[in-house]
Amino acid sequence: MSHSFAAERVHVRAPGKLNVFFAVGAVQEDGYHDVASAYQAVSLYEDVWAEHSADFTIAISGTVDISGVPADDRNLAVRAARLVAQRIGHTGGVHLEIVKHVPVAGGMGGGSADAAAALVACDALWGADLGSAELHRLAVRLGADVPFALMGGTAVGVGRGDQLSPALAKGRFDWVIVPSDGGLSTPEVYAHLDVLRADPDISRAGQAPAVDPGVLQALRAGDPAALAARTKNDLQAAALSLRPDLRTALELGDASGALAGIVSGSGPTLAFLAGSAESALELQVTLSAAGFEALHVHGPVPGARVMGV
Ligand code: ATP
Repeated sequence: MSHSFAAERVHVRAPGKLNVFFAVGAVQEDGYHDVASAYQAVSLYEDVWAEHSADFTIAISGTVDISGVPADDRNLAVRAARLVAQRIGHTGGVHLEIVKHVPVAGGMGGGSADAAAALVACDALWGADLGSAELHRLAVRLGADVPFALMGGTAVGVGRGDQLSPALAKGRFDWVIVPSDGGLSTPEVYAHLDVLRADPDISRAGQAPAVDPGVLQALRAGDPAALAARTKNDLQAAALSLRPDLRTALELGDASGALAGIVSGSGPTLAFLAGSAESALELQVTLSAAGFEALHVHGPVPGARVMGV
């Protein structure tokens, strides 16, 4: 199939995410855990530029440590581009330029955001016009968090986290993000959770996880205090057990006006929910003064979208 080129260069921006609620159930036959997640896309973005090329190439830069990011076919953005090419029968390649702001291996879905951005960018660059349902199908094949990076906003995800339904959220939620050096491997954190749960006292295998309706109500009402009371992350105990040093920042945030402090996804990034933009700013100043990197972000924000051609 041949497609007329729709643009010479396309710029797409995709957001990082927080799991404002994350329940982990039993391991399924496919080896994945059954999860129930409430996602919120936040204003920490990945920027991807795509331009025509004979091959599939990638250049990566950013404001975060990018040393753990593969710059070859293992990169999720390159895999996304190849998937679009394969789907439409495009015989050339693409050059992707990625500028990362989401901490790598931080539990905020940065790689997934790059993949979602690459799907949208290649679709526009090659004039494929696949439509959101087809892009979603391709996203599912790339990873559990990729569909949400496409969709953005606030959503509930079940199954592997990729069976998504949008959730209503009113107003804006202010968060202070504390990235952390070193990263945590998502499979390692799940494996550690399984070890912790082997203790019969805390074992929960067999229960189908669900998002607490109180979380959805708090999001709908735009009520950060109510959300703070209901937020939880089943991966938190495992992440903190692998990285006990994270407790210092968690305790400081709790003592400095945060409504809640959670490990984001599989960590090690921490997310503190603030009652307002002003209190987020105060929290950011306190955490920074104590030597922690602290970023003030807000959500919900849109999913992967074309910023310019
Ligand atoms: P999630 O929350 O979705 O589990 P994460 O935010 O913890 O993911 P990512 O930054 O998405 O972690 O990356 C995890 C690993 O994936 C990296 O350590 C890296 O080896 C690999 N990877 C592949 N493509 C990318 C990419 N475009 N950006 C970052 N990492 C990538």
